[in-house]
Amino acid sequence: MKGHEHKIPRMEDILNLPVQDPPCAEFSAAHIKWVKVEGGRQGGDDIALIPFARVGDFVKGESSNAECPASFRIESRRRRPEGSISKPRVDGYLEYTLYWCSYGPEDYRENESGVVDGSSTKPASGKGSRPGRRHMMRGCICHFTVKRLYTRPLLALIIYNQRNHVDKSGSPCHGILDQDAMGTRAMYAPRISEEQRQKVMSMLYVGIPLDSIVQHHMEMVEGHGGPHNRDDFLSRNDVRNMERVIRNSSHELHEDDECSIRMWVQRHRKNVFYFQDSSGSEPFVLGMQTDWQLQQLVQYGHNGYIAFHSTFGLKKLKYPLCTLLVFNASRDAIPVAWVITSSFVSQDIHKWIGLLAERIQTKDPRWRLDAFLVDDPSFEISIIREAFQCRVLLCIWRARRSWIRRLLKTCCNFDVQREMFKHLGWLLYCTRRPNTMDSVEEFMQVFVDQCAFMDYFKSRWLPNIELWANGIRSLPVAGPEPNAAIESYHLRLCRS
Ligand SMILES: [Zn+2]
Repeated sequence: MKGHEHKIPRMEDILNLPVQDPPCAEFSAAHIKWVKVEGGRQGGDDIALIPFARVGDFVKGESSNAECPASFRIESRRRRPEGSISKPRVDGYLEYTLYWCSYGPEDYRENESGVVDGSSTKPASGKGSRPGRRHMMRGCICHFTVKRLYTRPLLALIIYNQRNHVDKSGSPCHGILDQDAMGTRAMYAPRISEEQRQKVMSMLYVGIPLDSIVQHHMEMVEGHGGPHNRDDFLSRNDVRNMERVIRNSSHELHEDDECSIRMWVQRHRKNVFYFQDSSGSEPFVLGMQTDWQLQQLVQYGHNGYIAFHSTFGLKKLKYPLCTLLVFNASRDAIPVAWVITSSFVSQDIHKWIGLLAERIQTKDPRWRLDAFLVDDPSFEISIIREAFQCRVLLCIWRARRSWIRRLLKTCCNFDVQREMFKHLGWLLYCTRRPNTMDSVEEFMQVFVDQCAFMDYFKSRWLPNIELWANGIRSLPVAGPEPNAAIESYHLRLCRS
C-alpha cells in the first residue's frame, strides 16, 4: 500500500483523518469537520471520513437542510469486486456513488416561457433527460461523491464537490434564499415526507377513494391558511403514484392467494404486528400497523379511546377487515391498525391484542387508554380489559343503522317503521324483563306481516340478539359523540 501513495500525494493523508461518527440519528455537512484537499482531481473539494454504515444517515440529514430542503438522488454508481485490483490507490473505491441535488443538474426553469437552456450542466455520467422530473429541475449543481474505500471497506470518503444549492451562475436556485421560488413548491423539499407518505398509503390501503383523499387534504391546507411545506403541495399525482405502488406490490404477487399473502408479509415485515397463516383448524389472521399509525395511536389514544370498527362487505377484500380507530382534536377518525381474519375477529382477538398493547407500551411506557369501544358484543371483554387496563364500552350505532336502513327499504308505512324501530330498541334495552326471547317473540308476532324485514331479522339478528341484550346489560354504552365520529368515518370509507 504505502509504496503507491506517491501517485496521489495530496490525498495520501486521507487515512490519517479522524473517522467522524456524529451521535445523532441523521447528520448533515454542518455536523462534520471538513478538510480541503489541494491539487489533483479533487483540488479544492471538502473531504471527510465517516463509517460506511452511516452514509444513509448523512444523505438523509443533508437532504433535510432547513434553508434548502432537497433530496439527493444517486446520479451514478460504480462498483468493483474485492480483489480485482492488485495495487489500489489510497482513495481507490470498492463502490463509488455520485449524489446530486434533485433540483439539478438540468435547468428547465425557463422552459415554461419558451426559452430553452441548451447549455445546462450535465454530470459526465448523467442519466439523460429525465422527462418525468423536468418540471422540478432548476439547474442546481450541489453534489457530493461517496467512495467506499477499497482498502478500508468499513469507511466512506465523502468528497463534497459543490456544497451550495446554486445554479451555474452561483445564485440560489431553490429553497428560501431563491426569490423566484417564493410561494412555489421549489421553496420546499422536492418530495413529500415519509410521514405524509405513510398517512396517504394508510388511507389508500383501507380503500378511501383517491378523490376523497385529495379533497380532504385540500380542505386541511386551506384550514391552516395555505401551503407551508412540501407535504401541503400533495398533488393528485402523488396520490396516484402511491396507489400504483400499492397495486403493484400488494396484489397478485403469486397466482395462489395464500402464497401472495405470505410474500406480502415477508416484504412488509415491519408493518405486520401479527401474522398467522391458515393451517388445519387455525384461521388466517393478519394484523397490520405502519409506523405512522403507531405514532398516531400513541398521540391520540393516550387518555382517549380506541374504537373497534368491523367492516364487512368491503367489496375489495376477500376476508373481513377490522379497523382500530382513534380520534384527533377535531373528532376525525384515524385508522391506526387493521386486522384481517378468515374467522370472526372476536374469536381471535386474544392472539393479537396483547401484542398490540405491548407495541404501544414499548413506544411510550406512560401511555394509558381511557376506554376501548367495541361494536360487537361477542368480544371477550376480559381480554381487552386485561391488555389495556381500561373500560370497555359497547357501540350500538351499527345495529341501529342496519335496522333503520332495512326498515326504510322493506316497509313503506312511516308509522309502522317508527313503531318497529321503537320495539327493536326495547329488545336491546329490555333490562326489566326476565327473558329477552319473550320480547323477541312478541315483536315477531306483532309485526308478522312485515315478511321481508322479518326474514332479514331472523337470519341476521335472531341468533345474536340475546348476546346484544346481555352486552347492553353488562357494558356501558358509548355516548353519541364517539358513535357519530365512527359513523362519519364509516360513511367516508364507503363513499366511493
Ligand atoms: Zn439543490
